[in-house]
Amino acid sequence: MTAEKQSPASGSILVVGGGISGLTTALEAAEVGYEVFIVEKNPYLGGRVAQLNQYFPKLCPPTCGLEINFRRIKDNPRIKVFTLADVEKVEGSAGNYDVSVRLNPRYVNENCTICGECAKVCKTEITNDFNFGMNRTKGAYLPFDMAYPSRYVISPQIIGTDDAKRCKEACKYNAVELDMQAKTINLKVGAVVWATGWKPYDAGKIDNLGFGRYPNIVTNMMLERLASQNGPTQGKILRPSDSKAPESIAFVQCAGSRDENHLPYCSYICCMASLKQATYLRAQYPDAKIYIFYIDLRAPGQRYEKFYKMIKEDKNVFFIKGKVAEVSEDPQSKNITVVAENAVTGEKIRQTVDMAVLATGMQPTAATAKLPADLKYTAEGFILNDFKAGGMFAAGCANKPADVLSSNQNATGMALKAIQTLMKR
Ligand SMILES: Cc1cc2nc3c(=O)[nH]c(=O)nc-3n(C[C@H](O)[C@H](O)[C@H](O)COP(=O)(O)OP(=O)(O)OC[C@H]3O[C@@H](n4cnc5c(N)ncnc54)[C@H](O)[C@@H]3O)c2cc1C
Ligand code: SF4
Ligand code: SF4
Repeated sequence: MTAEKQSPASGSILVVGGGISGLTTALEAAEVGYEVFIVEKNPYLGGRVAQLNQYFPKLCPPTCGLEINFRRIKDNPRIKVFTLADVEKVEGSAGNYDVSVRLNPRYVNENCTICGECAKVCKTEITNDFNFGMNRTKGAYLPFDMAYPSRYVISPQIIGTDDAKRCKEACKYNAVELDMQAKTINLKVGAVVWATGWKPYDAGKIDNLGFGRYPNIVTNMMLERLASQNGPTQGKILRPSDSKAPESIAFVQCAGSRDENHLPYCSYICCMASLKQATYLRAQYPDAKIYIFYIDLRAPGQRYEKFYKMIKEDKNVFFIKGKVAEVSEDPQSKNITVVAENAVTGEKIRQTVDMAVLATGMQPTAATAKLPADLKYTAEGFILNDFKAGGMFAAGCANKPADVLSSNQNATGMALKAIQTLMKR
């Protein structure tokens, strides 16, 4: 739509979730004239994409794309962002919803210049959830460099302690507000887009794959953080038990996905994620042996197929068609042995490697935290789009497992659906 053909704004849109899908819906709607509220539970926007090292298939850093979106949001007065926020209640019907949103305190206001003095004086360290607990961060922290809003957070864990007082005293900009309280605000909106995304399936539930028991078994999302410059090892992929440079790595595909005991569906992206991660390893370790154990390799579309072909050229990447049945650890060396049956030859394979990566799939966040609205779900917790009822829509991975490209396409479509709801009022 051009500015001249812009539709008259007739209400507001609430977007729940500020990942790439939520950002896309919000920007598409706001840039054609609609007022949009983004409610995000994290202290930053970007969702899971902010945790990735590079994007397939281009292998560019996701922060570039995110930065452009953040700038567009900053420049658009029609978008209001609430971070550390949860939707408590949605009442009403299409075109006319009353929404209660709880805003949790950040204890740092907009005066913050991200100078970092509060973190320097803070003695308490807390688990770094952004890095899946692989390191710790100070109780006063910036979630990651380039975070938006670019503002520190003070963890509720240090509120009431001397550490919190030290942070306040260290701040020259009067940005630390230790008496900030949670509050509830009410919004009136015409449409709601749920872009609540996904979380990695809990690999600890897959008993036979050893995650949580053996330190040298990590998940694919952990590998993204290990490969990231702003990750726990400053981008060097090292095996967790002894920080050794791995010479051999096994990828275990469909870890939890396509399994009636866990996630019965294909998570769509984890084959491509492992192929991409093979490039991270190759860039750091030119001679490392990479073993990919798979049931089927799924690289949908021409670009992804091309990417797969490129990885197949690598003589030290071995593709083994066989579902991994068990893993074990050598107590001395901490090496991992992966056992699978080769589906082509029928032979039992035992491959010992320095570390293993579980290609864990996507579980919709709504599967474990039901949303406070009248929504329909699949048996696995993906939100169903009931276009007949209208008014509320699901975008991106809240609706189905997807890569960024298809999440964005879907999110753009849902912006249009939301706008249509407002136009019908
Ligand atoms: C290992 C791995 C690597 C990947 N690599 C790539 C890649 O290279 N290229 C690619 O195209 N795709 C990749 N993907 C897929 C990509 O991560 C997803 O396509 C993308 O995250 C989808 O974005 P989303 O906004 O739908 O969901 P999310 O990224 O999950 O964002 C959802 C947002 O909603 C927020 N939220 C959730 N619930 C609530 C609530 N109740 N209230 C408020 N906020 C809430 C969350 O905090 C989050 O910020 C990869 C996936 C994996 C597992
Ligand atoms: S809260 Fe204050 S001390 Fe901490 S980073 Fe922001 S401006 Fe600096
Ligand atoms: S994308 Fe690949 S690894 Fe992921 S569930 Fe589907 S087939 Fe398995």
